[in-house]
Amino acid sequence: MLKVCHLYPDLLNLYGDRGNIIAFMQRCRWRGIPVELLEVNVGEPVNFADIDFLFLGGGSDREQNLMAEDLLLRKDSLQQAIEEGLVVLAICGGFQMLGQYYLTHDGQKIPGLGILDVYTKAGDKRLIGNIVIEVEINGEPVKVAGFENHSGQTYIGNLQPLGKVIAGFGNNGQDQLEGVRYKNVFCSYLHGPLLPKNSKLTDLLIQLALRRRGLDTSLPRLNDDLEEAAVGVIVERLSK
Ligand code: GLN
Repeated sequence: MLKVCHLYPDLLNLYGDRGNIIAFMQRCRWRGIPVELLEVNVGEPVNFADIDFLFLGGGSDREQNLMAEDLLLRKDSLQQAIEEGLVVLAICGGFQMLGQYYLTHDGQKIPGLGILDVYTKAGDKRLIGNIVIEVEINGEPVKVAGFENHSGQTYIGNLQPLGKVIAGFGNNGQDQLEGVRYKNVFCSYLHGPLLPKNSKLTDLLIQLALRRRGLDTSLPRLNDDLEEAAVGVIVERLSK
């Protein structure tokens, strides 16, 4: 049984980010892997050591402010689980909240968990549009497509990015880097939502979650023609 946790489903769920959970769970079920979902809101308990896949979605600045205090209370247990290999996907606002801070337009500093040594500052222009990045998955370069919409510009220092930007803005519109990969934590600005179209990435997350529990990581192949065609359309449009 894999346990999936959606943290703050009511606050961090922009642009259908919940679709990431649906994709993760459905690709497990299609392989006969039992999976269950736990939705955890502000003030509700969760034991991260017991979770196999944690999802944090995107949120507006206002929503990030509403959950920041609650998230900070969970820092130590989340950090420990991450160091022990918890598989995490954090999108946009969720990504920003794992970093040191988010400096908003009006000069307000929303504190992050500081689990990742990255910081975010709101820029003058929103970074909006379809985006394609190249991500290394099991040693192969894979094109991953999504949609980004953020004013935050994130700088990741020496951390490993999730991928490099082929078309679009990415972390800050300057360094051609997108997201962060740290241990089994995957951060990205890609909404879309990210996982339904990008099935190789979804399967990587499933395999990492299985490996952490010492379970069989061989995944029967699924027919991904539709998913690959959807990414192909975005790649083609953006390369014109
Ligand atoms: N509030 C953040 C920003 O605009 C995150 C937005 C999002 O999650 N899409 O940068």
